[in-house]
Amino acid sequence: MPYSEQAVLSVRPWSDKTFSFTLSRPQDFAFASGEFVTIGLKREGKLIARAYSIVSPGDASELEFLSIHVPDGPLTSQLAQVRPGDSVWVNSKPTGSLTLEHVRPGRVLYMIATGTGLAPFMSLVRDPATFARFEHAVLVHSVRTEAELAYREELESRMNGRFHYVPTVTREPFPTPERGSVLFQSGVLAERFGLPAVDPENDRVMICGNPEMTREMTDHLKAAGWTITNHRGIGNFTTELAFVTHHA
Ligand SMILES: Cc1cc2nc3c(=O)[nH]c(=O)nc-3n(C[C@H](O)[C@H](O)[C@H](O)COP(=O)(O)OP(=O)(O)OC[C@H]3O[C@@H](n4cnc5c(N)ncnc54)[C@H](O)[C@@H]3O)c2cc1C
Repeated sequence: MPYSEQAVLSVRPWSDKTFSFTLSRPQDFAFASGEFVTIGLKREGKLIARAYSIVSPGDASELEFLSIHVPDGPLTSQLAQVRPGDSVWVNSKPTGSLTLEHVRPGRVLYMIATGTGLAPFMSLVRDPATFARFEHAVLVHSVRTEAELAYREELESRMNGRFHYVPTVTREPFPTPERGSVLFQSGVLAERFGLPAVDPENDRVMICGNPEMTREMTDHLKAAGWTITNHRGIGNFTTELAFVTHHA
């Protein structure tokens, strides 16, 4: 059986478009911080399942997720209604390319997220192994409205001399209105925290979010001499699309 039935333990709404929930962790379910797994709901005997990044770090006792609510989405129109005690089905094989094994160790780890693309980075930020591998970690979370800044309080409370969090809001007045990709490319991110200018020799980048941002950052980094991690080897940056567009 690739899927096991797990109980919803808690639900936390963030905005009208986003919410988090936790599930019981399946027995013998091993994953690396930053990975995703397919989860789903059974409706009329049929499983509707989608890929979800795991917000919890690898050693957590519960599995936490951050979800979009697409009103006519086959899964999330239903998932947005779940309550503690309901069942969610979890695949037994997590995977993904946003783990610490997907970049070489280095000086600064830059994590650039839009929307629910924050999820895998929450897992990495909560994992002390990230700070054993990197001197600094910088996380930029770009969203449209302030309410979509999920986990903002937790991230602000984690800020210290080595972890730097930059929330940005693009469609409402906010102190930082630029997208993370723009901040990274202009060099102001490193500057803001007194870090050395970004360079591919010493620094690493992880990207997770909407396909346009991911493509734009990938093109920028490649043109600037960075190498993407793929089947040919471990490079100095790695990406995952937080969602894929379905064409009917
Ligand atoms: C590797 C991977 C990891 C993912 N991790 C997450 C995650 O942690 N949280 C999450 O909410 N979704 C995540 N997704 C997207 C998720 O798999 C589903 O697409 C999403 O739950 C919507 O499902 P649906 O059946 O309701 O609608 P779908 O039919 O899957 O999607 C409907 C429309 O909504 C758009 N859309 C889908 N997901 C998002 C999103 N997250 N943000 C903005 N627009 C979206 C799609 O482009 C599509 O046009 C991930 C996708 C991939 C490939």
